[in-house]
Amino acid sequence: MGPQISPQIIGSTFAAMTTAGKVIRCKAAVAWGLSQPLVMEEIEVAPPKEREVRIKIVATAVCHTDLYFLREKSSSEGFPAVLGHEGAGIVESVGPGVSRLKAGDRVIPLFVSQCGECRFCLHPETNHCNMNWSSQRPGKRYDVGSDTTSRMKCKGQTLLQFMGTSTFSEYTVVNETAVAKIPDSAPLDKMCLLGCGVSTGYGAAINTAKVKPGSSCAVFGLGAVGLAAVMGCKAAGATRIIAVDINEVKFEKAKLFGATEFINPRDHSKPIQQVLAGMTDGGVDFSLECTGNVDVMRSALESCVKGWGVSVVVGYTDTHDVCTRPLQLLSGRTWKGSLFGGYKSVESVPKLADDYMANKLKLDEFVSHTLPLDSINEAFDLLVQGKSIRTVLKLSTGH
Ligand code: NAD
Ligand code: ZN
Ligand code: ZN
Repeated sequence: MGPQISPQIIGSTFAAMTTAGKVIRCKAAVAWGLSQPLVMEEIEVAPPKEREVRIKIVATAVCHTDLYFLREKSSSEGFPAVLGHEGAGIVESVGPGVSRLKAGDRVIPLFVSQCGECRFCLHPETNHCNMNWSSQRPGKRYDVGSDTTSRMKCKGQTLLQFMGTSTFSEYTVVNETAVAKIPDSAPLDKMCLLGCGVSTGYGAAINTAKVKPGSSCAVFGLGAVGLAAVMGCKAAGATRIIAVDINEVKFEKAKLFGATEFINPRDHSKPIQQVLAGMTDGGVDFSLECTGNVDVMRSALESCVKGWGVSVVVGYTDTHDVCTRPLQLLSGRTWKGSLFGGYKSVESVPKLADDYMANKLKLDEFVSHTLPLDSINEAFDLLVQGKSIRTVLKLSTGH
């Protein structure tokens, strides 16, 4: 009889040695079409090409942006696809030319790359990298890899890799410029939240709004992104943090992250910007919009004080225009947008992971539900119903 190999070893180290260079057949939740339930399928994931990394995904969460493209955008473009961009896992193998990462590394795939060499990476004021999947084919929302082709197939059809990450799969292939290495001891079922929602909201407050100590802030929308923005306002030293949501169930969590006041716009007959102006002697110093609704974006801008107020758009839509009267800006307000919290991704995400490990950043509190990947449609339903903050889907055990 040969040596006994525990299932855990077969599932990680041993498998990595045997699968490198080969096509991997694995489970993934496939989005075949607009508003259709995701279907668990066996897919084929090709080996990484030059400068690419194949990752065994261990945990992934559902963000509103996944929901937007699956059910809300109403565009039949971009299917079939594997969605998901908030994941964490372990490098299974690397393609030629990859030296920064090796099999066995714990990593977070990133929907914003950092090549470190392009004009944008070299500029200190932005995290928009020219190597990003969206820059490679402007205007498209579904792309992958270094040469904008997919490494995923199912039933003979190519699956588009959403946001260059496709984390709703047991394995994915990502460009090496879009991978953050995290400590070996980091729990992947929490780390996945740094792949989008928490980094986005936290950084929007700290890096983009640049919230100041002693300031007043308003955060619109208290999903994971908005709650992380509340946490960022608190970390930056804001003394008043007004949490705004039409779903009052969210207020309790907002308090936990540092919100000091709570408003449901539906409780007021006046527009919310007037309510906030009345509470703050003319408007808050900083406002952050985390809903994706263009009317809320306008309200958030007009809720901040003339002269120096700063409002940050974080929510996403590409189907509606946002507008306001020019006087709102002429009178001294600044309107900004924030992608992935303004973080230069590859260098910043490991620091956020360290902050979590040092108890300086909350992640556990964002996880409202934990389910297996097979229950992914339930995770989407919970988000639609306003019942979840983040549902973490676990793909394998033992990490
Ligand atoms: P979520 O669905 O968990 O949270 C949205 C919250 O907004 C909910 O609590 C909802 O009740 C609230 N809301 C809806 N309409 C409102 C209104 N009129 N007034 C006040 N509150 C309202 O979503 P999420 O995952 O936290 O994502 C939030 C937004 O951020 C989405 O638009 C998402 O696409 C976007 N996003 C942007 C980035 C980025 O890099 N900029 C990254 C991640 C997510
Ligand atoms: Zn997201
Ligand atoms: Zn770059």
